[in-house]
Order: sequence, then structure tokens, then C-alpha cells
Amino acid sequence: MSDPHCIFCKIIAGEIPAFRVFEDDTTLAFLDVGPLAEGHLLVIPKTHYERLDQMDPDALTKLTGHLPRLGLALMQVTSAQAYNLLQNNGNEAGQVVMHVHFHLIPRKPSDGLGYRWLASSYAEGRGEVIAQEFKATLDSLAP
Ligand code: 5GP
Ligand code: ZN
Repeated sequence: MSDPHCIFCKIIAGEIPAFRVFEDDTTLAFLDVGPLAEGHLLVIPKTHYERLDQMDPDALTKLTGHLPRLGLALMQVTSAQAYNLLQNNGNEAGQVVMHVHFHLIPRKPSDGLGYRWLASSYAEGRGEVIAQEFKATLDSLAP
């Protein structure tokens, strides 16, 4: 349920401070201590899961159900017209805190944040192979 060494579990328990903006029995939203922009939120499940792929789907459904309203509040509070939803899984993907979290990052024109999107493409026939691998793998995993 919780990990005594996890900084976000400590925030959930109130053992270390955070600017909390919303919580219910399963979900907590609070200000990121190192914001990319003012109002940058973190939304986390109150149960400790390291990564999204380890989450109980019902807990994930409850958490994501709050995102539309949190997104609206984020834009109203920060006067941003847009926001990024970012969710990192694993060190290679940029995850530093190993407790599932969703970043809500307000975006404004010319905020300088940008993002890298280095798109590539599939060689002839490769997309078909990869898609087939996905279907076979998904069939082998419990729904
Ligand atoms: P990650 O790189 O794991 O996706 O992002 C972790 C985020 O957690 C970072 O943006 C970082 O600023 C934030 N963070 C790390 N420690 C604390 C903390 O003690 N309190 C708060 N409010 N945010 C934290
Ligand atoms: Zn935790």
C-alpha cells in the first residue's frame, strides 16, 4: 500500500509538506516542488505503485477521472490556454520518483519550454510486423 522510503508516500501520509490542491480517498494532487511553470501539478494514486503498468486498473480509472477537472482548474488558476499531461515510466523515460505520477504542466505561447518530438518512420512491412507482435503479446497478457 505504501513504501516507507518513498517521498510521495511520505507526502500522502503528511510526513513531509506539500501544497495539496485536491484529494479524495484514492488520489492526491499537489504542486510540484520544482515546477516547469507556475501551477505545475502532480497527480498521484494514494496507493504505492512504481509504474503505470503495475497499477490496478480501477485505481487508474479513479485517478484519471479527476484529470479533466484538474486540467480546467490548472488553466483558470494559471491563465494558461493549454497544458501538457506527462507520465514517465522508468528511469530511461525520465522517471526519478518511483511512485506513479501524472504531471500537468501549464503551457503559454512563447513559454520557452518546448518539447523534443524526433519522429521517425517505419520501413516497408515493418509496421505490420510490429502490430502483429502487439496483438500476440496482448493476447498473452491478462485483460
Ligand atoms: P519524474 O521525473 O519522476 O517524472 O518527476 C518527479 C517530479 O517530482 C519532479 O518534477 C520533481 O520536481 C518532483 N518532486 C520530487 N520530490 C518532490 C517533493 O518532495 N515534493 C514535491 N512537491 N515534488 C517533488
Ligand atoms: Zn510511494
